[in-house]
Amino acid sequence: MNSADDVLAGLDPEQRAVAEAVRGPVCVLAGAGTGKTRAITHRIAYAVRSGVVDAQSVLAVTFTTRAAGELRQRLRALGAPGVQARTFHAAALRQLTYFWPRVIGGEAPSVIESKLPVLVEACRRVRRNPDRSELRDLASEIEWAKVTQIGPDDYAAGAAKYHRSPPVPAEEVARVYDAYEQIRRERHLVDFETILELTAAVMTEHQEVAAQIRQQYRYFVVDEYQDVNPLQKLLLDTWLGGRDDICVVGDPNQTIYSFTGASPRYLTNFGVEHPGAAVVKLVRDYRSTPQVVDLANLVIAKSRSPHRLELVAQRPDGQKPVFSDYDDEPAEAAGVARAIRKLLDKGVPSREIAVLFRVNSQSEAYEEALAKAEIPYVLRGAERFFDRPEVRQAVVLLRGAARSAADEPLAAEVHNILGGIGLTPSPPGGGKAREKWESLKALADLAEDMAADGADLPTFVTELERRASEQHAPPVEGVTLASLHAAKGLEWDAVFLVGLTDGMMPIIYAETPEQIEEERRLLYVGVTRAREHLSLSWALARAPGGRKSRRPSRFLDGLTGRVSAPPRVATTPARERPRVAAPVSCRVCAKTLVNATEQKLGRCTTCPADYDEALLERLRAWRTATAKEAKVPPYVVFTDVT
Ligand code: ATP
Ligand code: MG
Repeated sequence: MNSADDVLAGLDPEQRAVAEAVRGPVCVLAGAGTGKTRAITHRIAYAVRSGVVDAQSVLAVTFTTRAAGELRQRLRALGAPGVQARTFHAAALRQLTYFWPRVIGGEAPSVIESKLPVLVEACRRVRRNPDRSELRDLASEIEWAKVTQIGPDDYAAGAAKYHRSPPVPAEEVARVYDAYEQIRRERHLVDFETILELTAAVMTEHQEVAAQIRQQYRYFVVDEYQDVNPLQKLLLDTWLGGRDDICVVGDPNQTIYSFTGASPRYLTNFGVEHPGAAVVKLVRDYRSTPQVVDLANLVIAKSRSPHRLELVAQRPDGQKPVFSDYDDEPAEAAGVARAIRKLLDKGVPSREIAVLFRVNSQSEAYEEALAKAEIPYVLRGAERFFDRPEVRQAVVLLRGAARSAADEPLAAEVHNILGGIGLTPSPPGGGKAREKWESLKALADLAEDMAADGADLPTFVTELERRASEQHAPPVEGVTLASLHAAKGLEWDAVFLVGLTDGMMPIIYAETPEQIEEERRLLYVGVTRAREHLSLSWALARAPGGRKSRRPSRFLDGLTGRVSAPPRVATTPARERPRVAAPVSCRVCAKTLVNATEQKLGRCTTCPADYDEALLERLRAWRTATAKEAKVPPYVVFTDVT
């Protein structure tokens, strides 16, 4: 890459418009897979390389450490290293830790990633004895209150105002919340919300701190802006201090954190808040095959969102999404493991495959099934790579070896050292041993890559320490097991959406229409993670021999028969054989169909016959037109967006 203009190659005209609008407020409002993240990465690189902004003055914020790591990696590849790309918490914590000794004094507080241990003690203090699920509910209620800037004293009134349904009476939540905050302060601990709160407070109360931070960061970019919460918005505004060199990108249809207080209104109101902002819409979907895009469009078409949009697939035809039902959960997990084995045999790398579920407790069955099938897997959102015991041990040994500098070629030396703690030439079967081996292999692969660039052992160790401080793990081989929430912004060649029963999707405790809508968006996020292969499955009973009382997710009603391939594999045991589910409710109004004629039609006789047909027809026509005539204007149907 020679010049700044080279950074613009590989962008479509709208993405290019984003990249070229290097200063001033910019808002990119677009659907999944349309290249929002790509557009902002290129925008930063273009601005830095053309000399309009200094790399050190950019602060790019996103929501997960992995997304932040990917942003940094992409920026380095585009010739713009040195840009700060962090999560809100990491960026704030860095500033807070830096200024703490000067403005507060003493040691900086320790960070707690989970509220649960402190919460257990808080409950004990107020003489409550919650079970695990109540404890989790209390944690998310306290998170919501802190994000919404409601203290313990105002909690009861706030919960009523925002129509919350707390797990226990609001006065009880307030007592636990109060005790939680007391213990947190006594122990000198900060949770994620407090980090943001304190950073904003320190900047507000100490003008010299605010001036220094604002002097450093002058150019802001936020990815996934649809999920910004009031506290993050407050911090962002404090960082900006009235300036408006900010670019935000997001998709209102991917808002999946409103239960914690996040809101897409900051995204949809951006033009009002920043008059004169450039608002760019992207509609071409570069990620997924037309078949996956069709399904995504159908899932979101039934949403009540005023921001519905239809994606235009750009990729060539692929396979239809596969819908499968299984007798029970172990059979579903085994069926998914078999399908994954087939993909691996066809040459799809395991790191290009993901199994996504609604709640983390669903992962266990898949861990077991994959371990049994000797397929490596990586749990996302679980233990962090650099905190794994084998990785810690490896880093200590490598650091020691770097000091004694014997400097055999890097790759050989790293293999020698890691060989001593379990990096065998070929991987062990499944389970923990395989997981450990994959971690060590990831370190060895990184060493090999760096050796190709002439790095020595001390350089390699320095790189590991840098990555550890940023929690930027090297790619670990293995099928990703992750919750749908943790999958946002990411993509894989093959995606298995599992456990799609009513009760899990939407989740049973989603009761209000808003909560149900959020669940639909979560499914939309899941569907749009797949590039090529998409599989959706559910089990009719929990355990083998159990009552088959479950029904597939209501969001799939009327869709299974429409985009599904014929039933798969005839060779699986009959008990596990996937079937295509018959539609059980009207595909237009979702009412349950009891009448045989209506069941045959797949809709109520009173509902319009051409509802989905018309939509599908339009999609097909648009796709053909876009393919034939490159100049066809984008046809996005955003309503009510400024
Ligand atoms: P999400 O809403 O899921 O966060 P996104 O809008 O941020 O998606 P990206 O992740 O930036 O989308 O892009 C999706 C995929 O499409 C990526 O693999 C990216 O490299 C590819 N892509 C984006 N724009 C283009 C383009 N102009 N040409 C070719 N590929 C592209
Ligand atoms: Mg993105």
